Amino acid sequence: MIFDVLIIGGGLVGTSLAAALESSGLSVALVEAQSMSPDSEGWDSRIYAISPGGASFLTQSGAWQRLDMARVQQVEQMRVFGDEGADLAFSAYQLGAPELAFILENRLMQQALWAGLQQQDNLTLFHPARCTNLDWQDEAAYLQLEDGRELRAKLIVGADGRDSWVRRQAGIIEPPTLYQQHGVVANFIAEKPHRGTAYQWFQPDGILALLPLPQQMVSMVWSVSPEKSGFLLQLPREELCAQVAVASQHTLGALQMVTPPAAFPLRLLNLPQLVKPRLALAGDAAHNVHPLAGQGVNLGFRDARQLAQVLLQRGPQQDCGDIHLLRRYERARKEDILSMQLATDALKKLFNNNNLLLRTARNFGLSATNRIAPLKKMLAFHALN
Ligand SMILES: Cc1cc2nc3c(=O)[nH]c(=O)nc-3n(C[C@H](O)[C@H](O)[C@H](O)COP(=O)(O)OP(=O)(O)OC[C@H]3O[C@@H](n4cnc5c(N)ncnc54)[C@H](O)[C@@H]3O)c2cc1C
Repeated sequence: MIFDVLIIGGGLVGTSLAAALESSGLSVALVEAQSMSPDSEGWDSRIYAISPGGASFLTQSGAWQRLDMARVQQVEQMRVFGDEGADLAFSAYQLGAPELAFILENRLMQQALWAGLQQQDNLTLFHPARCTNLDWQDEAAYLQLEDGRELRAKLIVGADGRDSWVRRQAGIIEPPTLYQQHGVVANFIAEKPHRGTAYQWFQPDGILALLPLPQQMVSMVWSVSPEKSGFLLQLPREELCAQVAVASQHTLGALQMVTPPAAFPLRLLNLPQLVKPRLALAGDAAHNVHPLAGQGVNLGFRDARQLAQVLLQRGPQQDCGDIHLLRRYERARKEDILSMQLATDALKKLFNNNNLLLRTARNFGLSATNRIAPLKKMLAFHALN
């Protein structure tokens, strides 16, 4: 089977790219290892903060309109606390924006994207499908599936997540920097209303975020050492709720657990290249960032938007796997990815340190930022895109 673009990985980034290519005139295939079947029981423990820019990208492909908005929470305010009482607050009202972000389940977005792909004329879906071999030749790339089928395409897009198989097949081997931290996630019902506020506490032993969800729920991402993560995961439910309530200074009162906790090792991956002839990497296959800014998937959506734009704007005779075309994508994405990696890495290091001078500086920094309106606005505008 012959295609123009073959996307490997049907997570949020791969599916959003496939959706964005609907009117491209290109024949597109998407290969996903798992079955793309609807499964919507209960709340998903993977919750994301989606920027207004990410939401508008999903709106263009019709996926946002398919969401059950009763399960989507708008963030109207953000409060960030340092470890010595410093406080930084942003509000959508101050910025003249309707909201700072949207908080919603990974599964909800995934289903909305999958539903659209079923109707897409220029798209062929392969799922569940296992890839066994990928080979690049001058004229095309060839993908072998486990069931014996061979797919041929002018461009391979690796959107197969942080341990990308495509990246390895392409010989792009760059060891990630391990943060020696795990992100512990769980959802809770809070005793007190969150009023659309996203909270974050920077503490010497970790970074705790409580993101607002509908129905007075909150979603936790607590970035802690692997030892503390192991300790938190083995606690009885009530005990974990009590620990989170203490670490969040009882801001939302008592907490009741809704989804069991899970932990993800955190790491930084900065690749020297995102493209090769007939290859482009996107999403977590292309970069990993610390989740403290909630920007991983937003960066991935910006990759998908940019790659789709480059492919849509190519010349009538231009091969979509042409390295000169793909370099346009790489150049356009590099600065955004690097600045997010530097900012999250610096913040993580600044707060994960007991040095007295750094402790004073970081708390002073938060309070000062809170008082300097233009700086606050600049930071917040970055989060909106
Ligand atoms: C604790 C934690 C909290 C986070 N919170 C946020 C947040 O609030 N906001 C945010 O923006 N980001 C957040 N992130 C980051 C976010 O999870 C990722 O950036 C995002 O999931 C990346 O999407 P993706 O589509 O690139 O990869 P994935 O979601 O990993 O999808 C990859 C897909 O490829 C498939 N696949 C893998 N290998 C193959 C193969 N060989 N063949 C075919 N298919 C394959 C997989 O089955 C999967 O469906 C968080 C991450 C962590 C760890």
